[in-house]
Amino acid sequence: MSDAPSPVEPAAAPRQGRGLCLLSGGLDSQLAICLLREQGLHVEAVVFASPFFKISAARQAAENLKVKLHVVTFTHDILELVKDPPHGFGGALNPCIDCHARMIRRAGELMTEGGFDFVATGEVLNQRPMSQNRRSLGIVEHDAALDGRLLRPLSALLLDPTRVETEGIVDRSRLLGLSGRSRKPQMELAEKYGMKEYPSPAGGCLLTEPGFCRKLADLRDHEGLDSERLVWLLLFGRQFRLPGGAKCLAGRDARDNAALKKELGEGDVLLYTVNVPGPTLLIPCGAGEEDLALAAGICAAYGDHGARTEVNVRIVRKDGAEERLVAPLPKELFLGWML
Ligand code: SF4
Repeated sequence: MSDAPSPVEPAAAPRQGRGLCLLSGGLDSQLAICLLREQGLHVEAVVFASPFFKISAARQAAENLKVKLHVVTFTHDILELVKDPPHGFGGALNPCIDCHARMIRRAGELMTEGGFDFVATGEVLNQRPMSQNRRSLGIVEHDAALDGRLLRPLSALLLDPTRVETEGIVDRSRLLGLSGRSRKPQMELAEKYGMKEYPSPAGGCLLTEPGFCRKLADLRDHEGLDSERLVWLLLFGRQFRLPGGAKCLAGRDARDNAALKKELGEGDVLLYTVNVPGPTLLIPCGAGEEDLALAAGICAAYGDHGARTEVNVRIVRKDGAEERLVAPLPKELFLGWML
């Protein structure tokens, strides 16, 4: 056995912590990413895609921050919550508490798959009266079930230390204690991190907009919310509920018309004017003869019929087509059916 001292192993470099941050594209979530990166953590971002929330702002923010963005399909999740939100709705059909909890839970799945240490959000304590008070943050944390791995870097100093802070993966002393609705501290931070453009806070979620929620509630009460296709169709055209119960969508512009044309499926009916410029209408799931005639009248009414008393309307189904000469329906008659 040799007496020679064993060579001293160089100390292993501390492991770089890995965080996955929810990114809406708003200022707070961007700041959370900057703050975590500032202490040397590796951060990636995640956004949740559904018909109710555009992800273009998150994509832009991810590009600006040069952070990898994971896109998670969220339509099934959010529809389940709109049907039956365990913690109720906000001011419209927005189940914000459950929605937050579900997003964080889904991010937690990604955390496990991707070998991240924690999930972070840009939530600020008391910034929103319903969904970001202390009680709501606690409910979200409980329901998301991340076992101490949910970090709110912007308000961390006002909240109990998380497991990733006590384990030393995240340096708590470099997190913040923001609270309330003032945006001043965030603006100062934005300046510090060189952010010039960022969307205004909140907004952007259709589930908070009364006009959209009227259409969604109508769908829920008639066809139900099981068909993701019918929910996506709420984004296109003027929407009518005809007297016989059929749903009818009328394109407002070329983009709507093209989208509705592509949507023709089994059981649907598509209508458009033949000899004059006009809209495309889609009746998803079809209609009885009475509603079909009314839809054809609406199609003619929105067409550029000039002095004509009748317009040719083509009625297309998957298994065939017909043409009818149709009188434009007076607008005062059908505007009351618009959702
Ligand atoms: S505003 Fe919309 S996307 Fe945001 S938490 Fe509420 S329901 Fe979810």
